[in-house]
Amino acid sequence: MLTRRAFLHTSVGAAAAVWSGSSRVSVAKYDLLVRGGRVIDPSRRLDAVRDVAISGGRIAAVESNLAVADAASTIDATGKLVVPGLIDIHTHARSMEMPAICLSNGVTSLVDAGSQGVDRIDEVIAAAKGAPNRVRILLNVARTGILPDGELMDINRVDVAAAQKVIGAHRDLIVGVKARLSRTVAGKNDLEALRRAQAITGPLKLPVMIHMGDTVAPLPEILALLKPGDIVTHMYAPPPHGIFDDSGRVLPEVIAARKRGVRFDIGNGRVAHITWADAERGLKQKFVPDTISSDWTDAGRTDQVFDFPNVLSKFLLLGMPVDQVIAMGTANAARVVPGFKELGTLRVGALADVAVLELRDGQFEFVDNDNTKRTGKQKLFTTAAIVGGKKA
Ligand SMILES: [Zn+2]
Repeated sequence: MLTRRAFLHTSVGAAAAVWSGSSRVSVAKYDLLVRGGRVIDPSRRLDAVRDVAISGGRIAAVESNLAVADAASTIDATGKLVVPGLIDIHTHARSMEMPAICLSNGVTSLVDAGSQGVDRIDEVIAAAKGAPNRVRILLNVARTGILPDGELMDINRVDVAAAQKVIGAHRDLIVGVKARLSRTVAGKNDLEALRRAQAITGPLKLPVMIHMGDTVAPLPEILALLKPGDIVTHMYAPPPHGIFDDSGRVLPEVIAARKRGVRFDIGNGRVAHITWADAERGLKQKFVPDTISSDWTDAGRTDQVFDFPNVLSKFLLLGMPVDQVIAMGTANAARVVPGFKELGTLRVGALADVAVLELRDGQFEFVDNDNTKRTGKQKLFTTAAIVGGKKA
């Protein structure tokens, strides 16, 4: 027997099916309605109170005062931010459980940035396939993946042909190559490792993500080997060989690299990847990140990084407006990862990946990689995440 409410939904659904000429009969016009939140969609420069309707896994409408009766279920987002699903382009969510933790933080799409190489990539592939959110992979240029003693200390660990074969077998999941180039990882092999990373990715037209900071080679020599679309992570790494010259100015080679299409990413992490002073120095000179990412690991869950909204909130503390911070974790991130172009937006017709966040006022402590504490007045928390129209 139909209740009155279900009957009304059925009527609306049937009528809609007739009007659209579709044979598909749905019970409600919308599967889910996220109501009354402050919608920040940097892809459309939208920042206003709106309802977001989802149907068939896609954004169906972003308007004021959509009818509750048209929706099978609702989320009340009053007083909250409604943003595209967060995209974290540098994590180490390499185990089966980790992507789900990211999703609970509003991260609907993420990249495992080079945890594993050719030898053990199947572990990350399995984690990506089993994840409730979208996980893509950067293959570590060294076949061993990350080694505590430095995977590139022996350059023979880079096998161009073997890497290309693995990428070819998993083109749907592997979106590029990661090369960690610091002194403790690559020693004097930094430039040669990067040349080989380019030999792998060049024919496949995929990006390389390099991990900069404390390299043997000066940064300009490294940047000279990057092609448009490549990504530099840990952009605010402290010296030696950061983005600044000795007087604290952003190096001309760094600005030139950005001009020809190289992207610059945060990669918060825990050790020698970012300090307040270096971030402030860069921001003051308007050398802002293209993307903010966490470099989240198991150890980072309880130290410095914690979660992606925490990392985003550090840039609120540094004076960045909230819509710009959201852009760096959504629309901008979607542009730099192959296969993510359709993401990071709430435009009608887009895949319905949505995060509902709360921007709380208060006193919140944040730390940089030197463990210097600062107190911020605002912090982002995740209330709900929606992947492909389904509430997580
Ligand atoms: Zn990393």
